[in-house]
Amino acid sequence: MFAGRRLAAKTAIAATTVVAAGMGAATLQSRRADNEVRTVGLRKTAATALPSRSELLERVAKTAEFDVLVIGGGATGTGCAVDGATRGLNVALVEMGDFASGTSSKSTKMAHGGVRYLEKAFWELSKAQLDLVIEALNERAHMLHTAPHLCKVLPIMIPVYNYWQVPYFYAGCKMYDLFAGSQNLKSSYLVSAGRAGEIAPMLDASKLKAGLVYHDGSFNDSRMNSTLAVTAVERGATVLNYMEVSQLLKNERTGKVEGAITRDRETGKEYRVRAKVVVNATGPFSDRILQMDADPNGKANDTLVAHANEDNDSIGSRVAVANPRMVVPSAGVHVVLPSFYCPKEMGLLDAKTSDGRVMFFLPWQGKVLAGTTDIPMKQVPENPTATEADIQDILKELQHYIKFPVKRSDVLSAWAGIRPLVRDPRKLKEGEAGSTQGLVRSHFLFTSDNGLVTIAGGKWTTYREMAEETMNEVVKLGQFNAKPCITRKLKLAGAENWDPNFAALLAQEYHLSSKMAEHLANNYGTRAPIICEMLMEEERNKLPVTFGGRENVTVYGNVDFDSFRYPFTIAELKYSIKYEYTRTALDFLMRRTRFAFLDARQALHAVDGTVNIMGDELGWDSEKRKAETENATEFIKTFGV
Ligand SMILES: Cc1cc2nc3c(=O)[nH]c(=O)nc-3n(C[C@H](O)[C@H](O)[C@H](O)COP(=O)(O)OP(=O)(O)OC[C@H]3O[C@@H](n4cnc5c(N)ncnc54)[C@H](O)[C@@H]3O)c2cc1C
Repeated sequence: MFAGRRLAAKTAIAATTVVAAGMGAATLQSRRADNEVRTVGLRKTAATALPSRSELLERVAKTAEFDVLVIGGGATGTGCAVDGATRGLNVALVEMGDFASGTSSKSTKMAHGGVRYLEKAFWELSKAQLDLVIEALNERAHMLHTAPHLCKVLPIMIPVYNYWQVPYFYAGCKMYDLFAGSQNLKSSYLVSAGRAGEIAPMLDASKLKAGLVYHDGSFNDSRMNSTLAVTAVERGATVLNYMEVSQLLKNERTGKVEGAITRDRETGKEYRVRAKVVVNATGPFSDRILQMDADPNGKANDTLVAHANEDNDSIGSRVAVANPRMVVPSAGVHVVLPSFYCPKEMGLLDAKTSDGRVMFFLPWQGKVLAGTTDIPMKQVPENPTATEADIQDILKELQHYIKFPVKRSDVLSAWAGIRPLVRDPRKLKEGEAGSTQGLVRSHFLFTSDNGLVTIAGGKWTTYREMAEETMNEVVKLGQFNAKPCITRKLKLAGAENWDPNFAALLAQEYHLSSKMAEHLANNYGTRAPIICEMLMEEERNKLPVTFGGRENVTVYGNVDFDSFRYPFTIAELKYSIKYEYTRTALDFLMRRTRFAFLDARQALHAVDGTVNIMGDELGWDSEKRKAETENATEFIKTFGV
């Protein structure tokens, strides 16, 4: 407890220091087209001093009853926490792993309405499908507005190989623009075969007939997720990662859900968290919480899982839900390749792969993200992993496009996520699990007879809308006198006072290279100056995390982050521990930064350094350091390397 207080006090001091440093703000003048000169100040927005983990745990222990308990800290759950907290509700959220450790870090990272869903709407003459596209296009605009540092407009080219497809794709893209209405990002346009070849020299221009360019959003999914968690905490919510719900608490008389027994996975300590309303936002794992809801004692049926795991002890093969009823799981794999596989500023869309899917090749964080597959599964794995066959499948599709040989050795990283397609469990009869009976097109919100609210399905892009609907239901059930929803316009942590020139201002103020300034601005937004102050504070903080804790490294003035391939520094790690609840090496290497997703081999080299720094900051003993190193190494090795 005292250690927690000390950490909180230190955090407060750090934040104050940064505000003070902001007094001598740099200014920048930029000239707009209309010749109006405006002055943009580098306002170093300070992070609010966040409560430490132990303070949050203390809150959990001392609160007799929360208004709402959200189970699951992915996009949906953290979105709910932000919505609830900003309506004035007393919110608790528990996540059994890290924020975005489920599906929410493994998406294609598109904030989109989905051109292929639009195509489907037309072929099926489905108004419902069309409404979903329009809803997602609106939400795309909200994401770009509420987190402009994390979500950017990305042009995407559809290479066209048949003349008859030109009017087809042209009409499709124009419709996409049209249905976005006032939220349209930029007009789509047609380019000649020659121009398409210039834009994307890696394509075989001899076969090209034209190219169609449309626009969508591209974002950093796991950083968006931790940003939502931090925003919720700043708005008063009690949000904890590494807290698992092991049982639901039921009213003995009525059977109504009244909270949950949660276990702190760091210490093993159990907490009984009571809440007026409980929300199940556990994505692919939803059925486990639904089993607890159905059981009079609030327990999940773990017999099948135990049986399935009898011979499974590798990371990739452990089962989390053996007999899903609501979730129809399907695995989607992505691979990351060097930047030369795609234009630097434009994505490519294969509108029809050899087996009729669409596949994206997108510039992402200086690399190329390629995917995805769609592999139906009977059980929900704890940690889905990409198989060699999945990787080869994507490379094979890519080779249809790319002029030069596509090489397996170019794969820098590969991972899998579970797409939680959902069906209404109330419409299923006994023994129907596994069928596609009652499939829901988008997200699915329902309240059980015991009062448990479940929200599942949908897309990352629609997380805000899903959260708003869920909290409307919570307000109704709890009969709360809540404020209206404000999340359409709410700037998330790091988006306050954002300016597109923020990277330039950082570079000037802190004498950073453009690469480093852009990295910090595009990942931390207006919180980046806090990291810059840490870089200035201590020379060693400028080193990449790979060098963390190595005593024999001498830092010379000219050796810093720019001397290395990846800009993830010790300062960034220290920031993420203090301000973003980083608790394990994997949290940092996979989700606060995307190191392991971008280059798994290089990330493996950074495990020791990350563990050393974290061990010093969090007071880990040698046993804990060893376990952390082994766990992170074993996990990253499943990333296709
Ligand atoms: C391959 C793929 C590509 C995709 N691409 C896109 C895209 O480009 N754009 C888009 O908009 N959408 C995309 N999606 C969809 C999007 O990623 C998901 O809709 C979204 O991430 C789901 O978020 P969630 O919070 O519902 O689930 P999750 O992110 O899985 O979160 C659920 C959380 O609940 C936690 N949990 C489970 N059980 C417990 C428990 N007992 N106690 C506490 N916590 C628990 C889990 O640890 C997990 O973190 C894609 C999905 C896939 C699979």
